[in-house]
Amino acid sequence: MSGHAAAATRRYRGRFAPSPTGDLHAGSLLAAFGSWLLARHRGGDWLVRIEDLDPPREVPGAAERQLRALAAFGLDSDEAVVRQSRRHALYQQALDRLIEQDRAFVCRCSRSDLAAVGGIHRRCVATSSDAHKPAAPQAAIRLRVNDGDIVTFDDAIQGPQSQDLAHEVGDFVLRRADGYWAYQLAVVVDDADQGITDVVRGADLLDSTGRQILLQRALGLPTPTYAHLPLLLDAHGRKLSKSDAARPLDPADPLPALRAAWQTLGQSAQALDAVATVTEALDAARVSFNPAQIPNHVSGLAAMHNDPGANAV
Ligand code: GLU
Repeated sequence: MSGHAAAATRRYRGRFAPSPTGDLHAGSLLAAFGSWLLARHRGGDWLVRIEDLDPPREVPGAAERQLRALAAFGLDSDEAVVRQSRRHALYQQALDRLIEQDRAFVCRCSRSDLAAVGGIHRRCVATSSDAHKPAAPQAAIRLRVNDGDIVTFDDAIQGPQSQDLAHEVGDFVLRRADGYWAYQLAVVVDDADQGITDVVRGADLLDSTGRQILLQRALGLPTPTYAHLPLLLDAHGRKLSKSDAARPLDPADPLPALRAAWQTLGQSAQALDAVATVTEALDAARVSFNPAQIPNHVSGLAAMHNDPGANAV
């Protein structure tokens, strides 16, 4: 991966932003450790933000368990942990600006209305727009995507990216019909508000980045540098199954999972061979970390299962 000239003049600020939908697992540890390593490598700050904006998907107590697990892995936020559920006013301000600029609009299209147009919203096609119909959905608010809104960016790990938002995504939701904030709006507002210069996260979110850059432009916010870490693939090159990827880590025995994440990030196993504690592991990792070795894809579970007896990863 390569650095980014624009970000080089500002102090590096990275973050890890889990949703509290379950326990910390191999995929989330990879994102946490990878973002921490890159922040430390650049002498920067590393922040943790809990993305608790989707109560129907949240698991009670998961945020606290994630934070405790991160602490067991030695990954503590450099600043107070931010929780999105306490930041509605910021999201509302951003939404109001977009509505004033006529970039955001009220939409009553349901999923089935949009199925007829391939799920891509280009104009409202709601058949249930009569608000008096019992089945009428609540209104969502969407960002208008204009024809020709093509976002290109250079991902520090995945390379050059381009997305034609009008064709591939369409007008996208900022506030959901059920009243909850959409991830895309909240993440953009928070990354800017927290002064994040470098977003490092799993490649499953690569596809969201175009929307986030478009929103940054609409709101006049800076665009951070993006680095999408390799997805964990199974031995057949398929995305790791939910059950494998979501198996909780054992915070009581952090070293095997930390070593596995280290190797998945393309780093030399020997660097952590002799360590006996998490503190020693993180110190050794900081010293020998080489960002250029991070692969863009990882196939096979070998690296994840370097300890056949462990069920930690
Ligand atoms: N909260 C998102 C997730 O857990 C990650 C958001 C991000 O890193 O941008 O998938």
